[in-house]
Amino acid sequence: MAYFRWAPYVSVAERRRRAMKKMEALRKKGVDIQPVEIEGRTIARTFWGKGWCDHLEGFSDFENRLPRGRTYVRNGSVCHLAIGRGTIEGKVSGSELYNVTVQIKTLPAKKWNAVKQRCSGAIGSLLELLEGRLSDHVMDVVAHRKEGLFPLPGEMSFRCSCPDWAVMCKHVAAVLYGVGNRFDHRPELLFELRGVNHEELIQADAEAAVSAATQRGKAKRLDSDELADVFGIDLDAADAPKPDAGPARRKSTKKKTTKKKAAKKTAAKKTTAKKTTAKKKAAKNTTAKNTTAKKTTAKKQAAKKTTKKAAKKTKAAKKKATPAKKSRRKAVAAASQ
Ligand SMILES: [Zn+2]
Repeated sequence: MAYFRWAPYVSVAERRRRAMKKMEALRKKGVDIQPVEIEGRTIARTFWGKGWCDHLEGFSDFENRLPRGRTYVRNGSVCHLAIGRGTIEGKVSGSELYNVTVQIKTLPAKKWNAVKQRCSGAIGSLLELLEGRLSDHVMDVVAHRKEGLFPLPGEMSFRCSCPDWAVMCKHVAAVLYGVGNRFDHRPELLFELRGVNHEELIQADAEAAVSAATQRGKAKRLDSDELADVFGIDLDAADAPKPDAGPARRKSTKKKTTKKKAAKKTAAKKTTAKKTTAKKKAAKNTTAKNTTAKKTTAKKQAAKKTTKKAAKKTKAAKKKATPAKKSRRKAVAAASQ
């Protein structure tokens, strides 16, 4: 009698009971069983969960096959679903309990960096990120069909232990919808699946802010240094050492040039900010020392002795000139604002 060859009809309830029994056995073995339990008909409600489902349904490779999984996931046939880096493991109750594996390539570093860059400064907090409380701009970036966080069909491969396995069976489809539901509750798993750290989206914000502040600081310092260079060039031209200066005197000439430069700078500073008494004093002192140094140049015999003295004085002059320099920088900074 031919009809005995057909497998006896097993109701969904009976299948479920058998599946639950197997799940319980696995749980006792220490497997962390995570069933997909859907309340009502809506599989996914949040930005991340709905985003995942909408994304996959948008590809023609999937659009005809995916709907077959909806009933399965809604009636609780996805008895177990675990998401890890690059993999999704599922157990789906059908005529038997089938094992589903979905492999998903991790997000290429270039893509992830681009996402981070585009989201920079636009995400308030991790909580806002995970709750999907994002600006339209950030939503467009992370859920972008090609450049976002969701995988492309070419980055996914599926496997199921069922006999009617084709490109995508209903068990795989059910698992994929189950993933959408899971993202509703644990959106950070999308980042885990793609092998990226969601905290970097917030860190990128902080780094961008620090970097911007540093750049501003650099620009200000550069302005004042450039100005100093301009002064230095003019002074160097006027105080160029004579070519016939002997090697023994070179050292002293060099030191004197530096001193003169400092003196003239101080003089210039004096003109710029006449209000600072301390600066005036420093300028006067330097000028006096400068005169002494000129005399030294004339007295070739006493060169060695004076050089030592001049060096000391230069040091002192520099020390005194420092507060004046600071004031000048402040003045320059104020002027440039
Ligand atoms: Zn299957």
